[in-house]
Amino acid sequence: MGATGSIGSSTLDVLGRHPDRYRLYAVTANTSVEAMIGICTQYEPRFAVMADSDSASRLQTALHGVSDTTVYAGIEAMVTLCADPEVDSVMAAIVGFSGLRPALAAARAGKRLLLANKEALVAAGAVFMRAVRDGGAALLPIDSEHNAMFQCLPADPLARTNVQSVEKILLTASGGPFRGWSREQLTSVTPDQACAHPNWSMGRKISVDSATLMNKGLELAEACWLFDRSPEQIEVVVHPQSVIHSLIRYRDGSVLAQLGNPDMRTPIAYGLSWPDRIDAGVQSLDLVSVGQLDFEAPDTSAFPCLRLAQEAIKVPGGMCVLNAANEVAVSSFLEGGIRFTDIDRVIEVCLEAITADEPDSLDAVEVLNGRARDAASDVVGEMLARTDRRAAGR
Ligand code: NAD
Ligand code: MG
Repeated sequence: MGATGSIGSSTLDVLGRHPDRYRLYAVTANTSVEAMIGICTQYEPRFAVMADSDSASRLQTALHGVSDTTVYAGIEAMVTLCADPEVDSVMAAIVGFSGLRPALAAARAGKRLLLANKEALVAAGAVFMRAVRDGGAALLPIDSEHNAMFQCLPADPLARTNVQSVEKILLTASGGPFRGWSREQLTSVTPDQACAHPNWSMGRKISVDSATLMNKGLELAEACWLFDRSPEQIEVVVHPQSVIHSLIRYRDGSVLAQLGNPDMRTPIAYGLSWPDRIDAGVQSLDLVSVGQLDFEAPDTSAFPCLRLAQEAIKVPGGMCVLNAANEVAVSSFLEGGIRFTDIDRVIEVCLEAITADEPDSLDAVEVLNGRARDAASDVVGEMLARTDRRAAGR
């Protein structure tokens, strides 16, 4: 799911290296018909799904006589395919809350679920983890940090969540493209500057999240759900080289880390082949050429998003609200609407305005997500109207 994206492309690259091991059954995308034509021609999946019917019919027409792929439209078709008995593994790589329903379907159907779509877990934590348990799914984190944690924690699922042996999870952060910048400097950054990540090449939404440090806030919640920890048991450490992908500090003083070049094909290959290991096409890590590994504390005054997430985790429904407000704010910033430094302000206003119970069903999660999106759209609208008024007054 999300085959045309950054994670989707890396996943297809790994699959393409192992035609003996894996067969691509279905692919999905939002509206990128051209990219899907290429994917369907090269990999010949049985099914392809586009988010809307116009894109789906354009894809079906283009594939006529070229590929036997059957094309469907809409999220329901994605949900159905995620639970299809023919499917062993699902890569959840749709960006944002939109990926929740298909990912949940894969969890409920007991698939091996490779989870890149962190927003789904963060917004629906309790509901999501219940679906994984009830469905008997194998949940494999693809986010590089959580994949590192998974690799450094005990293999046995019970030992993995044993709080006794682990003193702290150390969640590494690159610091993003604006590490070391002041709040003042951040007010005028452009979407293209925010998307120019120093170490990783990623989709635009997660690139902005990395630049605001919200990505680390989402990842903090993600780690809490995946490994059954409280936020106090997880410490964020800025590590600009992105060579150490996270660490586990055990109570006997041992610290285990997973290292590698910043290339998502490593966690993707691990998720696909676990507990085996397969070639991922990733260049070997050359420590001498890396030369140096640095560490520093995150700057939560210039980048308040991490602090907002640390607070929201403790509030019922807080991460659902935070995630929705963040999605609305980031998309306005990317469209040239609000400023970079307005993103955290939108989220803070929404967190203050909305009180809720912890959502305990998919319906409740969707309702809360909708409320928070509406509130965030209002705040963004007011901010833009103020900017217009200032411009007109000048
Ligand atoms: P991307 O923008 O490159 O790709 C997103 C994919 O989702 C595309 O295939 C798009 O067609 C599809 N999509 C978007 N909206 C959709 C909708 N409404 N319905 C159906 N499909 C839709 O994003 P990405 O960088 O590949 O990230 C995907 C997910 O993986 C995100 O949740 C991100 O946080 C997570 N992730 C990405 C990276 C990375 O290196 N890119 C690392 C860790 C986690
Ligand atoms: Mg990550």
